[in-house]
Amino acid sequence: MDLTRREFGRLAGAAALAGMLPKTQAEGHSIGWCIVGLGRISMGHFMPGIKEGNTGRIVALVSGHRPKAQQQAAMYGVSDNAIYSYEDYDRIADNKEIDAVYIALPNGMHAEYTIRAAKAGKNVLCEKPMATSVADSQAMIDACRTAGKKLMIAYRCQYSPIQLKAIQMIRSGQLGSVQAIESSFGFNIRAGEWRLNRKLSGGGPLMDVGIYSLNACRYLTGEEPEDIHANSSVIDHDGRFTEVEENVGWTMKFPSGIVASCNTTYGGSMNGFYRVHGSKGMIEMAPAFSYEGNHLHADLNGGQQVDMPETEHDPDQFKTEADYFADCIWNNKEPKSDGEEGLRDMKYMSQIYQAAGLPSL
Ligand code: NAD
Repeated sequence: MDLTRREFGRLAGAAALAGMLPKTQAEGHSIGWCIVGLGRISMGHFMPGIKEGNTGRIVALVSGHRPKAQQQAAMYGVSDNAIYSYEDYDRIADNKEIDAVYIALPNGMHAEYTIRAAKAGKNVLCEKPMATSVADSQAMIDACRTAGKKLMIAYRCQYSPIQLKAIQMIRSGQLGSVQAIESSFGFNIRAGEWRLNRKLSGGGPLMDVGIYSLNACRYLTGEEPEDIHANSSVIDHDGRFTEVEENVGWTMKFPSGIVASCNTTYGGSMNGFYRVHGSKGMIEMAPAFSYEGNHLHADLNGGQQVDMPETEHDPDQFKTEADYFADCIWNNKEPKSDGEEGLRDMKYMSQIYQAAGLPSL
């Protein structure tokens, strides 16, 4: 094809510009996901979220139960030779279809499986809490950094539009100066859950669901807590709480002076919520941390009332999270909830445990 100088210049300019624009799925390729651990969160939420989205597809599974994996493989079109056991997990290095690994194992296994994924040359989306110790969390960050791979912690709330709306209301001053936050999240746990085994969980409800309140106080204020006090207790001596705590209540003071008080339990139903009180208004999210159906209510400066329920028209939180990570991989962006963000919560939870007289993480 013969091009005039002008046509050549125009095309070259367009090509250069295209290189600067963010990639879309059309330009990048759909992210090949390897799912590690076929439990409630992966089978019930994350995998359907991938299917609903258009940025990725499930190409491999890692499970200790081959029949269950084969059944899931049939649902998602995963080939039989892309089903791995925990023992032969490192073979994912040879599977070029895998771009990212989703770790949905008990907390105590997150570090090992993240580090092995990084060594296999894969990006990692790891469930919260990041790990069971501060040292393991740092090792995960280091391993992904050394491998030149992304590490994102699956804080789905940080990406959901209704939470972003609450943050925007606070940042825009519609509440005046924020004074206080209250937040709780807990449930009555069944005996026999891995969550009650310290080696697998790292701790009790604080690690599992209290972390939502902790993380929310941080993303709502945009500040880091500088003073932490805490109490913990076991009330039900029925054999469930021999290794982890049943209740934790903690308070945090932020640099601006905002005070937050939070509770978590494994001993009773505590629907996740938060309430933010400002000098000119308040917002309440109740429920705040559910997979769907969260509800924002606000009483703002000037008497404006906001009532915003999350509906079936809102994007699925897991789809949103997976799409976001795809964008980070395609466009070489550091995820907002990267390893450092997960590590910050680990350090604060360690301080909360210490303040409550429990072993630190
Ligand atoms: P789950 O018990 O339903 O699933 C855990 C999976 O790990 C199962 O497939 C199980 O077979 C496998 N596994 C491998 N070795 C195991 C062992 N030694 N003991 C027990 N299970 C073992 O758990 P889940 O509720 O899906 O939680 C998994 C992770 O996801 C946890 O880190 C949890 O904190 C996190 N999670 C996140 C959310 C969220 O909304 N982001 C919600 C729930 C759980």
